Amino acid sequence: MVQIKRKIVSKAVEKKVTYGGKNPVNYITVHQTGNTSRGANAEMHAKLQSNGNSRAASWHYSVDDTEAYQSFEDTAQCWHSSDGKGPGNTQSIAVEICINSDGNYRKAVENGAELVRHLLDKHGLSVDRVRQHHDWYPKNCPAQIRAGKDGITWSDFLNMVKGVKVSKPKETQTGSEQITKSSPSNGVSLDVDGKWGNSTTLALQKALGTPQDGFISKQPRNSVSQSLYGNTVQFGSGGSNVIVALQKKVGASADGKLGPGTAQALQKYLGTPQDGVLSRPSTAVEEMQRRLNSGRF
Ligand SMILES: [Zn+2]
Repeated sequence: MVQIKRKIVSKAVEKKVTYGGKNPVNYITVHQTGNTSRGANAEMHAKLQSNGNSRAASWHYSVDDTEAYQSFEDTAQCWHSSDGKGPGNTQSIAVEICINSDGNYRKAVENGAELVRHLLDKHGLSVDRVRQHHDWYPKNCPAQIRAGKDGITWSDFLNMVKGVKVSKPKETQTGSEQITKSSPSNGVSLDVDGKWGNSTTLALQKALGTPQDGFISKQPRNSVSQSLYGNTVQFGSGGSNVIVALQKKVGASADGKLGPGTAQALQKYLGTPQDGVLSRPSTAVEEMQRRLNSGRF
């Protein structure tokens, strides 16, 4: 279990060290701090950022052997991947694993894997979206994992990410998040977070009996299709099977294309306010997730 403490930087600092656009969160990028000094832990790195890091660098999460700190919202476009406005900086969340010499290296890497797992789940991404800093730019980072320090290689790290199942974190009164391990369930156990990403689509496909791949293909771009999370919506023309099945279920016209009409029919079906808009996150999606979990959608 690793606790995530929020120490979000001020708007003024954010303005100086991010691109200011909205990160669609298509990837998670793993770094190691390169700082072996005693005390160079997650809290120290979070403080460095909130004090206005003098280097032109920024990252979302710092994690050590006992805890994690979040410095920027997931949607910030931080500067950590050395790829300019490339996907590393503009489409990924950065996780810095601390390597302070007074910390337990293996535990910090394990906590890093747990944090990455949590972020993948949160954004409806699969483990193939985990990147090294080195994947974006020829910098030797995360250096220790790349070198297999203490016998932990990159593929070991990815296996750790795959192996850990984390439940939805609860906001505690101090504004921190708890990640707890839970045993895998055979049924559907979606996070009821109102965010319709790949895992929600997959559960919907399962419930509606359409092919299960977590993707909604051939969708038009509109306010509804673009409000889903992760990469579950694949844009194009023609419409998707799962949406046809959904539309039939909720009484919308069955053209396979997500849009305000389908959203409104879904809201009516679920008994949530009917405005034809899926907010990020959405109460209608929350209710849908709740029903998918209980098998009564
Ligand atoms: Zn790096």
